[in-house]
Amino acid sequence: MPLSANNQKRAPAFFIGHGSPMNAIEDNAFTDSLKVLGQSLEKPKAILVVSAHWQSPYDAISVHDEGEALMYDMYGFPDALYNVKYPAPNARLLTPDVQELLTSLKVEERSLDHGAWSVLVHLFPHADIPVMQLAINSNLTMQEHFEMGRKIRRLRERGVMIIGSGNITHNLRDIRAETNAPVVPWAQEFDDFVENAILQQDYDALIHFKDIQRYAQDAHPTTEHYIPLLYVAGSTYKDDKSQFVYEGFEHGSLSMRNWLLT
Ligand code: ZN
Repeated sequence: MPLSANNQKRAPAFFIGHGSPMNAIEDNAFTDSLKVLGQSLEKPKAILVVSAHWQSPYDAISVHDEGEALMYDMYGFPDALYNVKYPAPNARLLTPDVQELLTSLKVEERSLDHGAWSVLVHLFPHADIPVMQLAINSNLTMQEHFEMGRKIRRLRERGVMIIGSGNITHNLRDIRAETNAPVVPWAQEFDDFVENAILQQDYDALIHFKDIQRYAQDAHPTTEHYIPLLYVAGSTYKDDKSQFVYEGFEHGSLSMRNWLLT
């Protein structure tokens, strides 16, 4: 049965810069900010995550069974990271709602990937909210990704929180070993560009970032960590309260800026 929009407070949309997978098991200013925020938010009925770590040649949503193992889709990290558990409930209840908004969707059995669980462990640590992922269809243009965000934003009216999980800058060939290394100029400039576009609600600038920002290629040699931002931008309403709930960089070039809409 589809979720009801009656008397439902609009759920948030949230772009999270997830950074290193190690954030899942670390305590730092970024993970603290997620914990504090999670405690302050009204519990959503369900969560739809667009993660940088699921790209697909077609439109797809994921379903998983309660208690199913997570996908440990990262390599060469300490054992503790591969022991993280996040037994989120089955989110099949969301399927008709998403299918109503996005036609020709495939429904796939798929565990949550680390773009989802590495942030959810801090944001909603009780793992008691159903979570579903929406794949990034790699055949779509940036404009079309934004429009997908526009289509799914109605889920917010039904109490479904939309999370985009990526990073505003993401170039693994130009990161520093130390977490707190000084910020490189291209990363600072690109992050400033995105910050300003959001403050001006200039979503066309976000869509056309490759044509208008001189460091677009440095910031995103591949675009999968940027695209989740377009889903959140598409999910905005004019009267949303828009806030940057965390800002900063990891490893000299990885923007950890988080953008919340409530
Ligand atoms: Zn990532």
